[in-house]
Amino acid sequence: MTAWTRSSYGTTTEFAPNWRERAACLAYEPELWFPISEEGDTRRYVMQRAEAKAICAGCPVRRPCLAEALAFEAKASKAHRHGIFGGYTGSERATLAGKARKR
Ligand code: SF4
Repeated sequence: MTAWTRSSYGTTTEFAPNWRERAACLAYEPELWFPISEEGDTRRYVMQRAEAKAICAGCPVRRPCLAEALAFEAKASKAHRHGIFGGYTGSERATLAGKARKR
């Protein structure tokens, strides 16, 4: 997976406003990006998360997607970051945001 830095994921204003029209996830059920597990890391959860991340990995608008998620969640706690965006889970985005703040 790409090692994102603050400069590599960019800002929300540097991308075309219609970037969402090119999103790879438009061809799939949105629930795939919101894997839910009531019992921790179950096999189904892990498989669903891996499938969503694989699609994100080949998405042509991964950078603006991640930039928008990070901007939207700027003040959110780890527990309030839901879904997979830009190929990252909520807790992974929290880690990214923490690293970016330290730079
Ligand atoms: S990076 Fe993933 S969640 Fe974001 S637009 Fe692309 S496929 Fe959808």
